[in-house]
Amino acid sequence: MSIPDLDAHLLQLGALPQHRSRVLRHWLQALPLEHGRRPLQGFLPKALHEALPELLARWNGQLSLHAREGAADGSERLLWLLQDGQSVESVLLPPRAKSWGLCVSSQVGCAVGCGFCMTGQGGLIRQLSALEILAQVARARKMRAVNKVVFMGMGEPAHNLDAVLAAIEALGSEGGFAHKQLVFSTVGDERVFPRLHAARVKPALALSLHTTKPQLRRELLPRAPALEPAWLVEQADAYARASGYPLQLQWTLLEGVNDAEEEAIVALLKGRYALLNLIPFNTVPGLPYRRPSWDAARQLAARLTQQGVLTKLRDSAGQDVEGGCGQLRARIQTERVRRIPIQAVSA
Ligand code: SF4
Repeated sequence: MSIPDLDAHLLQLGALPQHRSRVLRHWLQALPLEHGRRPLQGFLPKALHEALPELLARWNGQLSLHAREGAADGSERLLWLLQDGQSVESVLLPPRAKSWGLCVSSQVGCAVGCGFCMTGQGGLIRQLSALEILAQVARARKMRAVNKVVFMGMGEPAHNLDAVLAAIEALGSEGGFAHKQLVFSTVGDERVFPRLHAARVKPALALSLHTTKPQLRRELLPRAPALEPAWLVEQADAYARASGYPLQLQWTLLEGVNDAEEEAIVALLKGRYALLNLIPFNTVPGLPYRRPSWDAARQLAARLTQQGVLTKLRDSAGQDVEGGCGQLRARIQTERVRRIPIQAVSA
């Protein structure tokens, strides 16, 4: 279901803009129906008020929770079944100083094919609708507080731009999220930058860079647009300055592959309005990369910061970075093939 479909249905039920806004606030913020100083009864048109429980059930019902798996770092992977039998993951990120993050998926599968990512191995299966993206947030908020949404799950948001930007618009207006707490993550695509500049709700931007070398980037991200890293950083930096939120540069650190680019990183990133996140790769069976030593990664981060590139080392256990999502889905699909029974869970 698209947002125009949702709007058409609300209109049929007599909703004016203030009614739409209130109903979406209840859904996206997982508010109880009796929440607020002004009762819904008497505020909403009668037909809309009567239909509301069924509407909320229908929007939430785009996903059913198939599996929920906690990790030692406090994160939880949620595997959602979609109505057509496909599945996607969201991840409740470990709480950090007043930040309760949720990583959401924007597509079933992904066309970019990053060599270090489980999701990338199977290609793109289909787009998620804006409502399927929003339902991940609404359903997660019934489980736990969420005040930040990162679009770093399965899929490349730039390849589903209309739905992702529509979801961001709804989350920033009715979802109660500060705009900087919505993080649009991309490998980089020419279409993204003008759309972000024009958006009313401007999210923070994360750019998955991974290397400064054009040829190596083409190998690591084989079906990403073949754009020069320097050009991408220039565009992303300009958007960050315009939005007022620092650019987050993601760098999955692969031993012997992209862990010796210190000089080039400083040349490219010094003076940028940006934070570089180094994320040591988590070894995944079947993928040909190795995790570098924590100590070596820590020293690299310290040297980069000393040279003027603010760098953080993230040991995310793959939870808050693209490439981590898709692992529960892949494992459960493998288990299905092996006919190991799945423990289904209720939402
Ligand atoms: S890392 Fe992100 S962009 Fe790359 S294949 Fe995986 S989901 Fe797609």
